[in-house]
Amino acid sequence: MPLIESEEHKALREAVASFANNHPHTPGTDNKQFWQDAAKLGYIGVNLPEAYGGGGGGITELSLVLEEMGAAGNPLLMMIVSPAICGTVISRFGTEAQKRQWLPALADGSRLMAFGITEPDAGSNSHRITTTARRDPDSGDWILTGRKVFVSGVDIADATLIVGRTADARTGKLKPCLFIVPRDAEGFQRRPIDMELNAVEKQFELVLDDVRLPADALVGDEDAGLLQLFAGLNPERIMTAAFAIGMGRHALTRAIAYARERTVWNAPIGAHQAIAHPLAQAHIDLELARLMMQKAAHLYDAGDDIGAGEAANMAKYAAAEACVKAVDQAVHTLGGNGLTREYGLGALITAARVSRIAPVSREMILNYVSHQTLGLPKSY
Ligand SMILES: Cc1cc2nc3c(=O)[nH]c(=O)nc-3n(C[C@H](O)[C@H](O)[C@H](O)COP(=O)(O)OP(=O)(O)OC[C@H]3O[C@@H](n4cnc5c(N)ncnc54)[C@H](O)[C@@H]3O)c2cc1C
Repeated sequence: MPLIESEEHKALREAVASFANNHPHTPGTDNKQFWQDAAKLGYIGVNLPEAYGGGGGGITELSLVLEEMGAAGNPLLMMIVSPAICGTVISRFGTEAQKRQWLPALADGSRLMAFGITEPDAGSNSHRITTTARRDPDSGDWILTGRKVFVSGVDIADATLIVGRTADARTGKLKPCLFIVPRDAEGFQRRPIDMELNAVEKQFELVLDDVRLPADALVGDEDAGLLQLFAGLNPERIMTAAFAIGMGRHALTRAIAYARERTVWNAPIGAHQAIAHPLAQAHIDLELARLMMQKAAHLYDAGDDIGAGEAANMAKYAAAEACVKAVDQAVHTLGGNGLTREYGLGALITAARVSRIAPVSREMILNYVSHQTLGLPKSY
């Protein structure tokens, strides 16, 4: 893996940064036009196969796009879900018909797909999910029953990729399976959750009350559930790292500009090491997190799902911690202005925490590294 970014990647970074900076965005307001313009330029589907209207790149390029949008203060949260998870899973495991139906539309921005795995009674323990799919023996249809929580963007997505389980015919054990559930499917109910987040992408509690789906709603092989699931979850972690690094960079840029100008004694506040050093540390932490994100993306794009799993977890952890610290320090640098709406940094305190919790919490990553990497025993 080259440690220096290629000329092509540098050019993509510059183009996205310039595009995003020319589309100033007020958090919490509709960003549909921005999404569609970005899609037209090939940014949203940059990771999807060329044969289906995508850019033929990988998660390396997609994460670069999201990071730059975030750094410009205009991150598209649904990129973590629609092209990164759903697009990847359909590209890798979908049928020819599913690929034709979804990939060109996900790439050109005309359709969006959400992703639902979290359940109220399972939370971080996704082995406990109980959304169940059974087959109608007469029609061959799938019938889905269950509940999901905190699923982002269900109202703006044309469909949601739902993680359910089917009973193994031999053992009776439940195995994870992925289903495309159209937004208006009968029995698919959604209720927005009142979040303390100033974002246009809302989170929803979902009820699947005997949702009947055609046989071809199943994505991939009924028996290869976990493998297929992880094919989507590693990109999700890498993209969350990009989201966090972009947000951290955005906050830091604002704080640095302020610290250069704001003078309350004889010199700008940025001359005081108590202000300058934490900003420098935040910058270093973001750069280090980006290196791990690039490693994870490189491994994933090279087809090393297992190596990418560990790196994606570590990148998500490092990026979230760096983001939370960068935002906290940025707010502090602005003094009272850090909490005014005009400067727009206060709301990032909550937003930054999202990357520490979702899609997998800080503690679950520390558990993963303790057990998988260090070989330490489990407490749970
Ligand atoms: C803004 C936002 C958007 C989201 N979008 C989506 C989405 O689009 N789709 C989707 O499916 N989900 C989504 N989620 C859900 C998210 O993935 C979950 O919130 C996350 O996985 C944590 O699950 P939980 O909230 O049930 O917390 P819990 O599992 O209840 O955990 C609570 C706390 O306990 C800790 N904990 C739990 N188990 C252990 C353990 N064994 N050891 C140590 N500590 C432990 C956790 O780290 C955490 O701090 C979103 C969440 C948010 C906040």
